[in-house]
Amino acid sequence: MLNQLTISELAAKFAKREVSAREATQACLDQIACVDGKIHAFLSFNAAAALAQADAVDQLISQGGSGANRPLLGIPIAIKDVLAVKNQPLNCASKILGNYISPYDATAIEKLKAAGAIVFGRLNMDEFAMGSSTENSAFGLTCNPWDITRIPGGSSGGSAAAVAADECIASLGTDTGGSIRQPAALCGCVGLKPTYGRISRYGLVAFASSLDQIGPFTKDVRDSATLLGVMSGVDRRDSTSVPEPVPNYVAALDGNIRGLKLGLPKEYMVGGLDPEIKASVDAAVKQYEKLGAEIVEISLPHTDYAVAVYYIIATAEASANLARFDGIRYGARVEGNDPIELYSKTRGAGFGAEVKRRIILGTYVLSSGYYDAYYLRAQKVRTLIRNDFLKAFETVDAIVTPTTPTAAFKAGEKSGDPLQMYLSDIFTISCNLAGICGVSLPCGFTQNPKLPIGLQLLGKPFGEETMLKLAHAYEQSTAWHKEKPSLKF
Ligand code: GLN
Repeated sequence: MLNQLTISELAAKFAKREVSAREATQACLDQIACVDGKIHAFLSFNAAAALAQADAVDQLISQGGSGANRPLLGIPIAIKDVLAVKNQPLNCASKILGNYISPYDATAIEKLKAAGAIVFGRLNMDEFAMGSSTENSAFGLTCNPWDITRIPGGSSGGSAAAVAADECIASLGTDTGGSIRQPAALCGCVGLKPTYGRISRYGLVAFASSLDQIGPFTKDVRDSATLLGVMSGVDRRDSTSVPEPVPNYVAALDGNIRGLKLGLPKEYMVGGLDPEIKASVDAAVKQYEKLGAEIVEISLPHTDYAVAVYYIIATAEASANLARFDGIRYGARVEGNDPIELYSKTRGAGFGAEVKRRIILGTYVLSSGYYDAYYLRAQKVRTLIRNDFLKAFETVDAIVTPTTPTAAFKAGEKSGDPLQMYLSDIFTISCNLAGICGVSLPCGFTQNPKLPIGLQLLGKPFGEETMLKLAHAYEQSTAWHKEKPSLKF
């Protein structure tokens, strides 16, 4: 079925004129009709508009237009509800944005469109990307395609579930503390968080501006490299984007990893790590040795502080970023007798419980008298965490860890206990604090029930080429990425 194909498989079929973009798009829409009533990955989509984009592509192809330099020509790609797509709803899975329609495209979206993609659909997420299970959406749960009683991870749960259930060919998500890699691991797809500054954040609704990055969800590593190449690059509309050259990431996937050094951090293979996950990661490490990589034990001594530091910095930045949602400029409004009453009624009614918790925490850590004790100290420890990684990267080319401590948990299991929820990001958060890149890819399954397990690779700042080369070599030597959920509900 066309909706099950990867970007590269579908592009090859288009090139041979075996199928049309309309057929590929229709296959995704049919799959959505068939399974999304149970999965609920999509908040909304416009089928007619998607098919119109597909027809435009088919017309171009029939007139002899080439796909050269347009690696995404005719590829249906769905988008997390935090990224601006012109004339489409933008809600961040929150009630506070009301009926807001985006007046412009995010830079990453502009680039997808320029590369020929069919950009369609709004994917469910935790409200304002705050969460690890997609249970914080104001618009209902998304279910894990491997077991619909379980969560798909978060905050980009809709993006991961939609790719895993073959409702689109690829999707975009965002990652502030693990929100691409963690759901990718729990749904069995490939999720990439690029180096901070690699992809412009223009048009991404900010949660924590010093941590947020946009990245792809795909069915294999090659597609991840393709999407990264399309979206990367400096952008004058985001001053934190970096003018590093954009290599040909796909060309780096040559399978030759002989002699590359992979660091295994001793701090990551302990504590609450599920034994089945540990066994899968151990097996992956052995596989890397077989493929010719050298495994080196490393230490990241400040790992224990990462979750605490993250929840100070991320909440502080969130409290500032979310101040703009006050009922005046965007979205929903609850009237009041004076501006203060209007603000507080609008925000009281518009934000969910987790978002309020974060705004309150963030306002507290920034308040006079506490700023030095919390925020400033967290910034200093953040530097220590980054230095741990930079030191490790003096001796290794990439780092290998589990992506998550457990496989997908049951809906409701952790939603009453924020701290337990926060701990599900324990292996992904440091990467954002350090500003480096990371990718999660399938490396096995738990037995009963059968749930995907993710392997995380962490790369040097702007070291995506080597990291993806390593990910690809492992992937191609195993068959984990080819497994599909049965979707028999
Ligand atoms: N789960 C983390 C949080 O709730 C990370 C979210 C994210 O990466 N957007 O903050």
